[in-house]
Amino acid sequence: MTVKKNDRLSVYIEDLTHDGAGVAKVDGYPLFVAGALPGETVETHVLKTLKNYGFAKLLNVVEASPDRVMAPCPVFDQCGGCQLQHFSYEGQLKFKENMVRQVMTRIGKLPDVPVHPVKGMANPWRYRNKSQIPFAEEAGIVKAGFYKIRSHNIANTDACMIQSEEADSIMMNLKRELQGLGLRAYDEVGHRGMLRHVIVRKGRASGEVMVVLVTLKKKFPQKEAAIELIRRVVPHVTSIVQNVNPNKTNVIFGDETITLWGKPVIVDSIGDTKFEISARSFYQVNPEQTEVLYKQALDYAQLNGDETVIDAYCGIGTISLFLAKKAKEVYGVEIVPQAIEDAKRNAELNGVTNAHFEAGAAEDVIPKWYAEGKRFDVLMVDPPRKGCDEKLLQTILEYKPKRIVYVSCNPATLARDLRILEDGGYRTQEVQPVDMFPHTTHVEAVTWLELI
Ligand code: SAH
Repeated sequence: MTVKKNDRLSVYIEDLTHDGAGVAKVDGYPLFVAGALPGETVETHVLKTLKNYGFAKLLNVVEASPDRVMAPCPVFDQCGGCQLQHFSYEGQLKFKENMVRQVMTRIGKLPDVPVHPVKGMANPWRYRNKSQIPFAEEAGIVKAGFYKIRSHNIANTDACMIQSEEADSIMMNLKRELQGLGLRAYDEVGHRGMLRHVIVRKGRASGEVMVVLVTLKKKFPQKEAAIELIRRVVPHVTSIVQNVNPNKTNVIFGDETITLWGKPVIVDSIGDTKFEISARSFYQVNPEQTEVLYKQALDYAQLNGDETVIDAYCGIGTISLFLAKKAKEVYGVEIVPQAIEDAKRNAELNGVTNAHFEAGAAEDVIPKWYAEGKRFDVLMVDPPRKGCDEKLLQTILEYKPKRIVYVSCNPATLARDLRILEDGGYRTQEVQPVDMFPHTTHVEAVTWLELI
């Protein structure tokens, strides 16, 4: 049959897309149904049909999946943050495991590679240590929450179940009292109003809390009142910072950062490694699972203390500092110079002297290291979603370190890169997915490869 706009169809959901929408096949034609789960029969209203696929609205669940649960968040349907709160946590983990397994077969041509069950969280709520909360004024009403899916409209809420309680308190109370302070929230269209974003960061281990107010201008008369309010709402706050962003942009931060009260940084630790985090530093957002992830990466590296190791795409050197305790030397490379500055400072903070850091593109710096005569036993890579640069993969295949540990936030590009490494003489030993972002469709995976 041909699926047409406005059809009402009862369909069986076979799978989920990477965005968390249900997928039905109507005589082979894929129909995406947001909110539907695999194994369900649902009634739908077809909204849009394209040549190769279409979209339908979920009207009614006729036969529910045993994994269907009530999404606990009241704005789950609107908010772009979580996609899977209607799916039991066990169901989510199984789905993520299958997603990794599928790409290993389809893209990596590695149907037999062992993919372990996803390492999930015992309590998959309130796991984020950072919240970036947009503030806006619409028709005289202050809104704050999280952006709706693919939009800059705010899903207004007083609480977010994956962020810290401190972030909830700030979000709710600041929203309530903003107008009383005479402080206007930002209006993106008119480019006016002072308060653009509020960022709340919390050290899981230290308990330290930083609140960052991103404002349109440097001077605002309500500064003291805002500090007082924050200190009243979160009495254990340790750092209140202002960032000034005068630009007409949807980039959150501007160039200037000023400490308003307390310290300019918070400290946190992962395992027994300490980190100093400033308003704009990159830092993993789920510290509890980061520890699980890094431990797995370290286990796969199988270091005995004699090795020289590369940590490519090292960020602020978090994995490097973990590796440094077990290796002879670690060389970290990262494209953002500020992150390399943080990495060096963090090495010092932890008394680590065998980790070296260089700013630059991994695909340029690593061939340079080899050309200088350096040799490496183990290569750790943790690239962004697009995966490893082609040139880096070619360098690996030229110099052939004996072991590679690949930390990936995108299973599709991981599988693509594994195929290239396999063709070049490596064998994928194991894949261990880790759930860093419960209730979203994201999945992280650590892979161990050996040269044969
Ligand atoms: N390993 C770190 C960060 C991983 S995120 C951690 O666990 O915290 C990926 C990092 O790769 C980002 O910090 C990004 O800035 C960096 N990056 C992106 N492209 C790069 C390139 N071509 N060369 C080196 N680093 C790059």
